[in-house]
Amino acid sequence: MISIKSTFVNFNHIFQSKKKIKSDPKEINLFSKINNNITNNTKLTMLYEQLIQGLKSWEYNPFVQTEQEIIYKFQSMFLYYDLYNELNINVDRLYEFLIMVKDSYHKNPYHNLIHAFDVTQTLFCYLANMKMDQYFSKFEIFVLLISSLSHDLSHPGVSNNFLIQTSNELAKQYNQISVLENHHISTMYKLLHKSKVISHFTPKQKKLFKYLSSNAIFATDLCNHNSIVERLQSKLNSDQCNIWSSLADKSLLIDVLVHTCDISNVAKPFQVSKEWTMLISNEFIQQAHMEKKIGIPLSYNFDDHDSTNSEEILKKSAVNSVNFINTFCEPLLQLISRAFPETTPVLDYIEINKLNWYEIIE
Ligand SMILES: [Zn+2]
Repeated sequence: MISIKSTFVNFNHIFQSKKKIKSDPKEINLFSKINNNITNNTKLTMLYEQLIQGLKSWEYNPFVQTEQEIIYKFQSMFLYYDLYNELNINVDRLYEFLIMVKDSYHKNPYHNLIHAFDVTQTLFCYLANMKMDQYFSKFEIFVLLISSLSHDLSHPGVSNNFLIQTSNELAKQYNQISVLENHHISTMYKLLHKSKVISHFTPKQKKLFKYLSSNAIFATDLCNHNSIVERLQSKLNSDQCNIWSSLADKSLLIDVLVHTCDISNVAKPFQVSKEWTMLISNEFIQQAHMEKKIGIPLSYNFDDHDSTNSEEILKKSAVNSVNFINTFCEPLLQLISRAFPETTPVLDYIEINKLNWYEIIE
């Protein structure tokens, strides 16, 4: 039986090596308390619950944790859904997988481990706080957590279009279709295979995992946004709109959730949302530098000289964020709130963020 205590004892060394990137005093305090109370079950449970409350929150700040803490928090989500016991997942194998995931994410401004974990934590909030977990089996929750954390694995920090325009090896390998997403899926399977996390699954379970997780990661290609919205719309217009039991329905709901979480940072509290927006702008500017150098058309509204003008970057970022909200995020979140009313409060954040961005644009 995998318990809170046994998991924490296993990862005790995480707390010993405290290489802080950025530190939130409250968080450090919580981790050192857990470390000191590893032998005291009651205190440990209380601290674990405190951690889970934080992870359930829409207002969670993803910028104040070390990479090791991210691994530890992912383990806590597994524990919350009792996935070790329910699916017979080996603690050490999962840990090995998570270390490889951490190492596979590049240090890009935006597409990095923190973004991957942010998507996973947002998913956890939808599941555990907004009660979306009632629609899924433990196996499907496992698929959701692993797919979210893996959805940008080994991302090179440039877009699909850039890879195609520059005839990158990956673009050739995947026939120019969802190039990055194919790469993320393939990397995820390699890491799962190496760490043997799902090696004990039956052939049927393995097939199902592959089907649901690859669909979920393909759903994060923005090119597939309209088709996801159309699929969701037609499901909600059907007389089966409240029933999510068939494999097709489950797959649709998994795709919708992973895609939504991937684009949800524009709907987070403004300071968090603004930080994400500036990070993606940095990555766009890096790409603009490369495009200018190679002599291909610029993909975004950033030029390489923008990197020296912070006022200009902020204004362009504000315009991009509002456009992104209006085109992708808001219509999708409105549709989701129609089907799942518990998610409705998220829409308020979007309205506040738009007002904040308008002030910057004017
Ligand atoms: Zn992503």
